Amino acid sequence: MHSADCLLCQTPGGTVLWQNQHLRVIDACDALYPGFTRVVWAAHVVEMTDLSAAEQAELLRIVLLVEAVQRAELKPDKINLAAFGNVVPHLHWHVIPRWQGDPHFPQAVWAALPSADTAAQAAQAALRGRVQQQLNAYHQALVARLASTL
Ligand SMILES: [Zn+2]
Repeated sequence: MHSADCLLCQTPGGTVLWQNQHLRVIDACDALYPGFTRVVWAAHVVEMTDLSAAEQAELLRIVLLVEAVQRAELKPDKINLAAFGNVVPHLHWHVIPRWQGDPHFPQAVWAALPSADTAAQAAQAALRGRVQQQLNAYHQALVARLASTL
C-alpha cells in the first residue's frame, strides 16, 4: 500500500488543502506558479489503470473539480492537466493555471526556463503577485466545493 522510498508515500508533497480516504488535494507551493495544485492518490499505485473504474472516476472528478474552481477563481488563460510520474511513480495529477505572461508560456512549466529581459521579469513578478493575492479565495472555494460534492 505504501512504499518506503516514495516521496508521496512518505510526505504530503505540499500543503494539504483537503483529503479523504482515497486522495488528497495539495497546494504544490511552487515559487514560480502560485495556484499550482496537485491531486494525489493516497495509495501507492503507479498508473490510472491500477485503479478500479469507480476509483478512476473519483480521481478524474476531483481533477476536473480543481480545474473548474481554478477557472472560476483565478481566471487563467489556460489550465494544464498532467500526469507523468516519471520522477515520482505514485499516481498524481498536476492542475496548473497558466497565463500568457508566465515564465514558460507557451511551453510546459517543466521546460527549461526561457531567458527574460528585465521588463518581462517585472511583468512576471506582477502576475505572480496578483495570483498570490487570489490564493486564499481560490483555496477557500476549492475546499468548499470539495466538501459539498462528496
Ligand atoms: Zn508512493
